[in-house]
Amino acid sequence: MSPTRRPSSITIPRRGLMLVISSPSGAGKSTIARHLLEADPQMSISVSVTTRQRRPSEIEGRHYFFKSVREFESLRKTDALLEWAEVHGNFYGTPRDAVEQAMAAGRDMLFDIDWQGAQQLQEKMAGDVVSIFILPPNMAELQSRLHRRAEDTEEVIATRLANSRSEIEHWLEYDYIVVNEDLDSAFASVQAIVEAERLRRDRRPGLFEFVNGLLTENPF
Ligand code: GDP
Ligand code: ADP
Ligand code: 5GP
Repeated sequence: MSPTRRPSSITIPRRGLMLVISSPSGAGKSTIARHLLEADPQMSISVSVTTRQRRPSEIEGRHYFFKSVREFESLRKTDALLEWAEVHGNFYGTPRDAVEQAMAAGRDMLFDIDWQGAQQLQEKMAGDVVSIFILPPNMAELQSRLHRRAEDTEEVIATRLANSRSEIEHWLEYDYIVVNEDLDSAFASVQAIVEAERLRRDRRPGLFEFVNGLLTENPF
């Protein structure tokens, strides 16, 4: 949110939105997600469960809940996952409870999930999902970002680059496309999308009461 903008004193109840961000690995979705969480107190992130190895910088319960394949299977079988997918040879899933609690409370939730997860959420909660696909400016930059991040082995980076084409092919399934060349401007675009989506009439049941109030207040 722009720091020059004064907060409104009027609160009109609205439904929470489910903001799905996907991209090929290295395009910058986690960086953009982190900035959004820092800047926007109304947004929280869905922390996924995964069977992949923890990266050196990652914190259990903040970036992911790290699980064994057996533990993951048990979550899946007990229907504890709202969606799940195999990505780059590991399993990833979205815990159902946290999402249901956030939605019931009218809070917004951010999902850093792949196209398979995006498809599943679109099918299950179509009206609440807003999806953004982040593209890199070019493939050489994607490669160099993966190396610069320096969190994965050469073998893992090679797998992710090899998978990037088939991920990019899903761009047409998303509501918005943001090219992350300059981080600040990509982030500003994502913020603009969130702000506009929050203003959508069909997401704001509280408008009926607000407008009725205006009409009955009318002294003319
Ligand atoms: P990243 O691509 O560098 O962010 O690496 P990660 O290992 O964190 O994620 C690998 C892929 O799995 C990315 O495409 C994520 O969007 C996706 N992913 C992460 N969590 C989930 C999840 O809960 N469900 C699904 N379907 N995909 C996920
Ligand atoms: P993803 O979550 O999509 O795999 P990350 O957010 O981890 O990608 O970004 C990959 C690397 O690229 C990180 O080191 C990050 O700091 C860097 N990065 C992200 N956006 C930009 C950008 N616009 N310009 C340069 N580097 C960037
Ligand atoms: P830190 O550098 O301490 O690890 O976290 C930086 C920011 O990440 C915090 O301001 C926090 O808002 C945000 N954050 C909280 N939970 C998550 C999460 O699950 N994933 C990511 N990527 N960021 C998170």
